[in-house]
Amino acid sequence: MPSGFRKDGTKLGFQKGCISLFKGKHHTKKAKEKMKKAKQGKYFSSNNPNWKGGRRINSKGYVWIKVPKGTPGAYKIKSLIDYMPEHRYVMSKHLNRPLNRNEVVHHIDEDRINNKLSNLLLLSISEHIKLHSIMKHQSDQKS
Ligand SMILES: [Zn+2]
Repeated sequence: MPSGFRKDGTKLGFQKGCISLFKGKHHTKKAKEKMKKAKQGKYFSSNNPNWKGGRRINSKGYVWIKVPKGTPGAYKIKSLIDYMPEHRYVMSKHLNRPLNRNEVVHHIDEDRINNKLSNLLLLSISEHIKLHSIMKHQSDQKS
């Protein structure tokens, strides 16, 4: 038996079929779909019990809602078209104006799913950072 051949006489190494698995169009398309799904999963989990139709919870625990086209603050990127964070939407509706870029909506009880107006606080970015450092300081003292 010459080297390079298996006991049954077939040649060792990659078979044509194996190579086409890696180079074939079919594989590429499947891989793309897999990547797309993985990417979406990064942002949203449809397994989340709070997921309802146009309401999604992203990986950071924020609720995103589907809003009418052209709503200020709504995102325009691929998987997020006409979606925006619910807490920002609620605050913007309350103020009857779009939120500025330097405005942050803080969750008073720190529950990102509790988007009742009474739980939301409008702060500037710097005020928000200050508030969180105070909160962190307080919780450090407790422990
Ligand atoms: Zn906050």
